[in-house]
Amino acid sequence: MLPSAFEIKNPKTLSDALEILQDGKDQIQILAGGTDVLPRLKNGFIHPKMIMDLTMLKSELSQINVENGILKIGAFVTHTQICQSTVVNNTVPVLAQACQTIGCRQIRNRGTIGGNIVNASPAGDTLPVLLALDAVVQIISRAKTRELPLDDLLLGPGKVSLGSDEMISEIRIPVKSSIMKGMFKKLGTRNALNIAIASAAVVLDSCGNKRIAYGALAPRPIRAREVEEALNQNQNLLWEDVKTIIFRTVHPISDVRASADYRKEMAANLTYMCLADLGVL
Ligand SMILES: Cc1cc2nc3c(=O)[nH]c(=O)nc-3n(C[C@H](O)[C@H](O)[C@H](O)COP(=O)(O)OP(=O)(O)OC[C@H]3O[C@@H](n4cnc5c(N)ncnc54)[C@H](O)[C@@H]3O)c2cc1C
Repeated sequence: MLPSAFEIKNPKTLSDALEILQDGKDQIQILAGGTDVLPRLKNGFIHPKMIMDLTMLKSELSQINVENGILKIGAFVTHTQICQSTVVNNTVPVLAQACQTIGCRQIRNRGTIGGNIVNASPAGDTLPVLLALDAVVQIISRAKTRELPLDDLLLGPGKVSLGSDEMISEIRIPVKSSIMKGMFKKLGTRNALNIAIASAAVVLDSCGNKRIAYGALAPRPIRAREVEEALNQNQNLLWEDVKTIIFRTVHPISDVRASADYRKEMAANLTYMCLADLGVL
């Protein structure tokens, strides 16, 4: 299907981009790597009047560094850049592990972390890891800059709490001086170009407490606080009891790829495998 005509804007500075967003009201579709936007455009799911391409802002939105105990990742950083980043691999290697499972090489080369977040797919692979890492997004507009925990940004499938004049500039993850151990497991039907049937991320904080989040097991990726609490407060909990809490936490759907009951079982299995691989079971 041929998309209907649209205007394209290529701002050269962030300040130009924010002006375009403010003037464009609800009419503008932001384009980063385009791996979500272009298929949706081609399939007639979206009909933007104007597309704003962030490519010229690469230098402003592609930093990866640690400042005052915060790992800052620009919204335009690609999955490949995250996988290859020494900074990420020395602080939160579990994020690189998740990015490595995304799509295929071509998709990882183009797809960005900002795009993965705003796409807000229940199965988005960076999302459970970022939730378990307590990630916060920096949101900018002409009027103001604000920070929002990722958990509050994600509203539902494809829905985020962003105004039409706002965009994400940076993802911020609190990190300690030592590496944060974590594990990401994704269940799919094959190894590449694989949308998660279920996914789990477990991160150990500096006190050894477990933080757990799930993907494709609810209308949006979720943090599993009740499961965390149970595991952190009682080291001798029976696995059957943990499983009961996991089953209570997740709310998967049945679809062509898996039934809800199967997804629930897999949520428990993936959690078990993450904990076992981290040596904390
Ligand atoms: C073949 C294929 C395989 C895929 N496999 C996977 C997979 O395994 N796992 C997975 O999680 N995803 C997968 N995806 C989805 C996609 O590649 C990722 O979600 C990717 O990270 C999107 O990033 P992008 O830069 O291409 O986003 P774009 O397509 O450019 O944008 C996506 C959305 O984010 C918005 N946006 C982008 N940047 C910003 C910003 N800075 N501020 C505000 N809004 C912004 C856009 O307006 C749009 O709504 C796949 C896609 C394809 C086509």
